[in-house]
Amino acid sequence: MALNKELLQILACPKCKSELVLTPAEDGLICHPCKAVYPVKDEIPIMLIEEAVPLAEWEQGVRERGRPANKAEHIHGAPPGT
Ligand SMILES: [Zn+2]
Repeated sequence: MALNKELLQILACPKCKSELVLTPAEDGLICHPCKAVYPVKDEIPIMLIEEAVPLAEWEQGVRERGRPANKAEHIHGAPPGT
């Protein structure tokens, strides 16, 4: 199941309007200027700034904002939602 590549070409980061890069697993769209990843769910890109996962967290396995893949506990006690 591949994401529609034509759709990809018209998509842009809602924050900075930059081009987005599909992740190798096709489960997210990366904005490099913002260092953010917009998740793709059921082949539908979630183009919402508040749903974007920081690139550093994405690379640690986070696929949904506020839901770490491995550990349930907050590592540094970061306040949620801010
Ligand atoms: Zn951006």
